Amino acid sequence: MLNCELGMGKTFDIGLERLTGGSEFSIGSAITTKNEGGATNAGARAEASELDAIRGALRGTFFLETFGCQMNDHDSEKVAGVLLSRGYRQVESPESASLILYNTCSIREKAAQKVFSRLGEFGVKRDEGRIIGVLGCVAQQEGEEIFKRAPWVSLVCGSASYSKLPELLAQVEAGNRRVTGLDTDTDQTFETPVTRRDNPWRAYLTIIEGCDKACSYCVVPYTRGPERSRASDSILREVRQLAELGYSEVQLLGQTVNSYADPTARKVKFSELLLAVADEPGIRRVRFTTSHPSDFTQDIVDAIDAQPKLCNHVHLPVQSGSTRVLRAMQRTYSREEYLEKIAMIRGAKRAISITTDIIVGFPGETEEDLRETLNLLDVVRYDAMFSFKYSPRPHTPSLSMTDIISDEEKSRRLAVLQEKQREIQTAKHSTMVGETFELLVSGKSRRENQWSGHTSCHRVLNFSSQETALLGKYVQVRVTGATPNSLAGEQAP
Ligand code: SAM
Ligand code: SF4
Repeated sequence: MLNCELGMGKTFDIGLERLTGGSEFSIGSAITTKNEGGATNAGARAEASELDAIRGALRGTFFLETFGCQMNDHDSEKVAGVLLSRGYRQVESPESASLILYNTCSIREKAAQKVFSRLGEFGVKRDEGRIIGVLGCVAQQEGEEIFKRAPWVSLVCGSASYSKLPELLAQVEAGNRRVTGLDTDTDQTFETPVTRRDNPWRAYLTIIEGCDKACSYCVVPYTRGPERSRASDSILREVRQLAELGYSEVQLLGQTVNSYADPTARKVKFSELLLAVADEPGIRRVRFTTSHPSDFTQDIVDAIDAQPKLCNHVHLPVQSGSTRVLRAMQRTYSREEYLEKIAMIRGAKRAISITTDIIVGFPGETEEDLRETLNLLDVVRYDAMFSFKYSPRPHTPSLSMTDIISDEEKSRRLAVLQEKQREIQTAKHSTMVGETFELLVSGKSRRENQWSGHTSCHRVLNFSSQETALLGKYVQVRVTGATPNSLAGEQAP
């Protein structure tokens, strides 16, 4: 996640991958701009022709910046697909684009603020005829208010309306400067004919949209709407196509991915879907995130045990170690019930790594509550943790809670929590020295012979190898060194 208080999650990359690069597609549709014509004197004419030159050079290009989680990353891949299929070309900087899109995150205040600061920066460019659009959670949260705060924005579209994006873009292209897609009342999951994927080996697939839980701190049910699951046959069809295109790893996504409820008559269970995806020829690894503890069941563990292609990693956010706080958060489970789920996972025949999310400083959280969370870390010994200071969000029940904790105190609690997790990771990583892991190689360092990749348990391992073409391959790597945040190794013979 961008701009959040990431804890000790650096050896894992949940939510850290960003969109990069652009595909070279031919320039197509022209964009009509609102400032065309109207110059009345020589100076203005010169300025206008300069602007025309800029517009001409930029025509049909888009810049897309993504904030937030993998679901946003994947939504952006789909948005890029829609634009490319309309003839746009993706560029690397907003300055070189005629269409600037921000796919936004509002999970914490800082992330939402960042978007407004971006909009401020590019507001000044409006005279050059650029079209600016706000997509995603801030779009949904703020709606038409965005037009008031940033009148140079022309398109505001929440994620639940992405299936309408082609029509909305057509309106923008036709010169409409107040285009919105803010419906959340849709049972359509977003499927586009073209998705421009950023990673050539690992593909994201959203299998469930929205959220029907009602955690009192969380804006997601408001911004992403109610839960909608994608048909199992449509998922499997896409996985098959992905495998044919050379993807060997797929990651199934959802805010509560394990609440998946197949809308078709086949009523495929989540664990059955995992096994069916793994069975597709060419698929070597299947991941899924994020799991909600209340819907985490034994059959998922059994599936991981039965099928080695299912990665041995479960991201199971706990949020707090105190039942009292969990109740106030409306998390639907107690500390004890959560620990039963952990015992279920630990009971697997394969060692399964477990990672989590924790919020500190929720209204009313006492020192004793914090101690219970710290104690939970000792009990579970997570492989990684993403930790956040509580951030009050609009449209959430906890916004009206009064027992507020100061930002300074939240920072102190976060630091204590992260220090505890650092100790746990230091100890865990040191026991891995000498072990050998299979990696999918996904990175090449600028330093010679240095590569990186992920283990099945989702650790990032940096390693050395004399080979020259390893990207996208599976290799065995022996761990030779460890720090709290990373593992290093060398390719095993
Ligand atoms: N659906 C997932 C679940 O149930 O755990 C979480 C999705 S949310 C996008 C990712 C994480 O952001 C949450 O697990 C939570 O720790 C954190 N988060 C959500 N709302 C927050 C808030 N208002 N303040 C701080 N952290 C928050
Ligand atoms: Fe937000 Fe809770 Fe839904 Fe996760 S389960 S997206 S934290 S409301």
